[in-house]
Amino acid sequence: RSFDDAGLHPIIRENIRMSGYDVPTPVQAYTIPSVLKGRDVIAVAQTGSGKTAAYLAPTLSKLMGKAKKLCAPRPFYVRPDYDHKREHVRGEPLILVVAPTRELCIQIFDEARRLCYRSMLRPCVAYGGGPTGEQRIDLQKGCDILIATPGRLIDFMSDSNVLTLSRLRFTIIDEADEMLQDDWTEDLEKIMNGAGANMDSQHQFLLFSATFDKTMRRIAKKYLAQDYVRIR
Ligand code: AMP
Repeated sequence: RSFDDAGLHPIIRENIRMSGYDVPTPVQAYTIPSVLKGRDVIAVAQTGSGKTAAYLAPTLSKLMGKAKKLCAPRPFYVRPDYDHKREHVRGEPLILVVAPTRELCIQIFDEARRLCYRSMLRPCVAYGGGPTGEQRIDLQKGCDILIATPGRLIDFMSDSNVLTLSRLRFTIIDEADEMLQDDWTEDLEKIMNGAGANMDSQHQFLLFSATFDKTMRRIAKKYLAQDYVRIR
C-alpha cells in the first residue's frame, strides 16, 4: 500500500510527503482506511511504529472538506483589536488526543503542526506541571485539535468558559495502557464520558495501546461502537 491510494486529502498527503514519509508503516496501512471509513479503532502499537501519523492523518483528512464550516472562531487573526482579557472564545476542539505525559504531548503536537500545515486547522497542547494561563489563552485563539494530559484536560473541562467538548468528531487515547496502569482509569472514563456526551453518530473513538488486556477490552466494550476494528 502507498499513501497515494489511501484516499487522504491532497493537503494532508502533501504534508506527509514533506515530513519525509514515503511508505506507510503497518499500523498506518491498516488504521488509515478504517478511520476514513468511519470506524472506531483499537490499535495495538508501540512507540516508534508511526502510530501518531496513523491517527492524525486520517482524522485531519476527514475534517479538511469541512474545515471552513467547523473551525473554531479565530478572534486574534480576524480582529487585531481583540482583547482576550475582556472577551472569551472558548476552546472547541474537533479532535482530542489524550496522552499520559507532557513529553509525549509535545511530540504529538509537533507532528500535528507539520500535518496541519496549510490546512486551516489549528493544534493546541495542554499539560500539567506549570501555570495554566498561557495554555488558556492559546485555547482561546482557536483550537481545532487539542493534545492534552488527563489531569490538565479535566481541569480545563471543569470550566465551560475555557473548553467544551461538544463539537468533538474524534477522541484519540494514546498509550491507553499506560494511563490505565497508573490508576488513571477514573480520569480516563471521565474524559471518555465527556467526549461521548451529546455526541451524534459522527463521533469516532480511536484507542492506541501497547497491550490489549481485560481492562482495555472492558473500556472498548463500554465506549466504542460495537463494530470497532481491532488492529495488531
Ligand atoms: P511514532 O510511533 O508515531 O512516535 O513515530 C515514530 C517515528 O517514525 C517518528 O519520528 C515519525 O516521524 C516517524 N514516522 C512515522 N511514520 C513514518 C513513515 N511512514 N515513514 C517514515 N517515518 C515515519
